Amino acid sequence: MRLVSFVERDSPSVVRTGVVVDDVVVDLTDPSVALPGDMTDFLVAGPAAIERADDATRSGARRLALDQVRLRPPVPHPAKVLGIGLNYAAHVAETGATRPEHQVWFNKQRTCVIGPGDAIEIPRVSGQVDYEGELAMVIGRRCRHVPAADAASVVAGFTVLNDVTVRDWQWRTPTWTLGKSFDTHGPTGPWIVTGDEVGDPHRLGLRTWVNGDLRQDASTDDMIFSCWEQVEYLSTVFTLEPGDIISTGTPAGVGMSFDPPRWLVDGDVVRIEIDRVGTLENPVAVEPNP
Ligand code: MN
Repeated sequence: MRLVSFVERDSPSVVRTGVVVDDVVVDLTDPSVALPGDMTDFLVAGPAAIERADDATRSGARRLALDQVRLRPPVPHPAKVLGIGLNYAAHVAETGATRPEHQVWFNKQRTCVIGPGDAIEIPRVSGQVDYEGELAMVIGRRCRHVPAADAASVVAGFTVLNDVTVRDWQWRTPTWTLGKSFDTHGPTGPWIVTGDEVGDPHRLGLRTWVNGDLRQDASTDDMIFSCWEQVEYLSTVFTLEPGDIISTGTPAGVGMSFDPPRWLVDGDVVRIEIDRVGTLENPVAVEPNP
């Protein structure tokens, strides 16, 4: 099942949840379905809500043409957005780093999240803006101390995330957080594909294009720490909650790996495609004046 957050063009402030079936969206806030319009609340409602959403696709619930709605970030207000660094062997090699012994984690501030089609902004303070195409997990259940063998059961599904990074600001602090957290630098979407439709997340093709130029072309089987090991490691430390986003690292081919580097500039379009998950596309624009 493909779960979306969307708005209708004539009421852009009312965010609803839906299920995409072919080229239509089934409105989960239709009174006959009556599920929460906020994706985090929907996920908190658990398996019963997922089952009800699935039933809605075979009911008379309200349907809208997909091209008549505007998709929003699938989880508009995640409580956490975490990213793992240096998690693809070929990416570690291109950065010149050494293969990490322990998982390298950083925060992206939750305010950086944007949806499909929203503009990635080039901030006034830097021109070193880079893309990182990534598979991201969306947590479906409040949990702590989850063994890797059980981790799939706490993941609601997967989405595409562009871990946009301002390189000079990334290196200013060992936590990387500032360079990872500029507003608009967390594009996610277009939807959450439930785990049952993705199967093994470690055998998916991932491709990133900038203006049609293929920059990243890899398989998730190049991950050093698996998705399930990541859930185990993070949940050793803190509670994971429904809607939390965990981004699983980027493969080789980021802009800084080229000589000279190929930073994003005004007018670019970044497109990330992950097998069985979906395609996320965002334009790049200069940060508007305050
Ligand atoms: Mn990354």
